[in-house]
Amino acid sequence: AKQSGRCCYKFYQDSMNAKAAARLQLEQDLRRALKSDEIVPFYQPQICAQSGRIVGVEALVRWLPAKGGIIPPDEFIPIAEETGLINELGRLVLERGCYQAKQWFNEGNPVRMAINVSAHQFRQLDFTQVVADVLRQSGLAPELLELELTESVIMSDAEENIARLIELKALGVSLAVDDFGTGYSSLSYLKRFPIDILKIDRSFMCDVNSAPDDLAIVEAILALAESLKLGVIAEGIEYGSQIAILKNTKQLLLQGYLFSRPVAAEYISPLLNQDFNH
Ligand code: C2E
Ligand code: CA
Ligand code: CA
Ligand code: CA
Repeated sequence: AKQSGRCCYKFYQDSMNAKAAARLQLEQDLRRALKSDEIVPFYQPQICAQSGRIVGVEALVRWLPAKGGIIPPDEFIPIAEETGLINELGRLVLERGCYQAKQWFNEGNPVRMAINVSAHQFRQLDFTQVVADVLRQSGLAPELLELELTESVIMSDAEENIARLIELKALGVSLAVDDFGTGYSSLSYLKRFPIDILKIDRSFMCDVNSAPDDLAIVEAILALAESLKLGVIAEGIEYGSQIAILKNTKQLLLQGYLFSRPVAAEYISPLLNQDFNH
């Protein structure tokens, strides 16, 4: 028994070492990838339900290793967060996104750029300054930049964060609550914080046609948004039937595979003249 115990322990230790080594390798690869052109934003259209036009895109980061393939963000964002590389990564996506939106604007297509902001980034003391600098350098109008923050980021230190959000609002950008409904249960922050948009989480939208509970939550979010005069973006739209449920909502934007997956910038341009309602 003693022997097998030692054996199990050793096995455990080896697998822990292997895990740590793999993680370290990933961190080194990511560090290098950030210096090359392997980390790029893809863009997913946000369509105005009323006009059928693309009015915005969300930047979703991808890792395109030189050897080929695509690594999705779920596989490297956590490492980036743990190691602090998320600041560099976040700034890269912010810069690329703003320059891209400015280019589309110059081509006659004002498209709002939505950028995901991680907790780590949001907590940096100079975050507002970074956003201001990138806006100035890219020449993008602040109205065309939207920052997506999750409820947990917003609520992590409510009092300090209010000040930060007011600072960001003063730049003229819009602020969206990402994954709305999945985090904190207290809704009072919506009244106190300078928020513009609620993004209904995909988890509520995916079964909205068959699950009465999800439908009830979505309807409650829509009513809340309407009475607080907030815009709404419904994520994860894959079927037309999901849209029917939302149809009476004002200022509604739709985002999901039904319209487009996140794609490289050059695939967005031809979509900008498309009417998705026809
Ligand atoms: P998120 O911000 O909630 O982004 C929405 C995710 O849902 C994206 O996954 C998108 O590709 C996916 N999605 C969109 N429409 C549909 C649909 O109709 N059906 C399904 N099944 N999925 C859909 P993605 O691109 O893999 O990103 C995952 C998460 O990684 C994001 O979730 C976000 O939290 C994080 N992320 C991505 N890019 C960045 C970034 O630049 N910075 C930071 N901090 N986080 C990022
Ligand atoms: Ca998002
Ligand atoms: Ca989301
Ligand atoms: Ca999410």
